[in-house]
Amino acid sequence: AWQAAREAERLACYQPAITTDGQRIEVVANIGNAVEAEQAVNAGAEGIGLLRSEFLFLQRAEPPSEDEQFAAYSAMTRALNGLPLIIRTLDIGGDKEVPYLSMPAEANPFLGVRGIRLCFARPDLFNTQLRAIYRAASTGPVKIMFPMIATVEELLTARDMAEAVRVELNAPKVDIGIMIEVPSAVLMAAELAQHADFFSVGTNDLTQYTLAMDRLHPSLARQADALHPAVLRMIDLTVKAAKAAGRWVGVCGGMAGDPKGAAILAGLGVAELSMSIPSVAAIKARLRKQSMVDMQALAQRALACRNAASMCWQVMQLRRSSSCRWRWRDWMTR
Ligand code: PEP
Ligand code: MG
Repeated sequence: AWQAAREAERLACYQPAITTDGQRIEVVANIGNAVEAEQAVNAGAEGIGLLRSEFLFLQRAEPPSEDEQFAAYSAMTRALNGLPLIIRTLDIGGDKEVPYLSMPAEANPFLGVRGIRLCFARPDLFNTQLRAIYRAASTGPVKIMFPMIATVEELLTARDMAEAVRVELNAPKVDIGIMIEVPSAVLMAAELAQHADFFSVGTNDLTQYTLAMDRLHPSLARQADALHPAVLRMIDLTVKAAKAAGRWVGVCGGMAGDPKGAAILAGLGVAELSMSIPSVAAIKARLRKQSMVDMQALAQRALACRNAASMCWQVMQLRRSSSCRWRWRDWMTR
């Protein structure tokens, strides 16, 4: 039965994720290279919600040149054949170390010079990457996304640097968004939304910074749960601020590819879910089986929970009330 359900999901993977009451949620993929762009399309992804561009910089002796990066990004737009590609600019630091950058050792690398802070410290790397991205923008629908934005000033500085590159290349304008993965960005979302075209919530980092639990810590892993109501309330605040400013919100952290997480995120008003490639078909199928009204009710109950465990119980109750027995069994297998 389990195999039959997976096969049915695979066969339906190119159908959009439209809920039983007619609401569409965009389901896109997280990738690290051009080969994965093609795999994502074949798996039913409707585009790329997160290119972790730092993967182009890892496991080598020097940074990729502008031409190398242009070749990689344009290979992705070719594979995507008109589907959107969100390129996150370098997110090095924290857990992603790049030895050839010779960055000084830090006592707290997750709170140190990582993400956009490293880009400001190394404008040579950032400008080269921005040039490659703007050149690739003429080959397909590309959007730029800045990681680890914690203040409005950081967003404005990054935007200014991108605009200077764009003008230099006489390239077309592209949408510029930011990752929401730091609590200060959530609390300043209304102001940030004035200068960003979209938000994408990075629940992996948002969970670690909200709960003050290292995302890689072996003994804290069980508690560092993105379904914790504290994290859900952060996402709720973000969506509300973005909607008030007419901006859309996606989620590209691991929570988007989790069946419980996807339903709650959709219910919170998240428009785009970006996940690892193998999750695409299953999440699309799951969303197609549910109504937005039910997911909104579930999200409200989840927000009111005291911890992640009681939230999971709410999800199980929702599925238990389903009239189809096999759907309940399907839940149990996950
Ligand atoms: C996140 O933090 O949720 C995210 C998507 O970014 P990364 O996992 O690459 O830090
Ligand atoms: Mg992150």
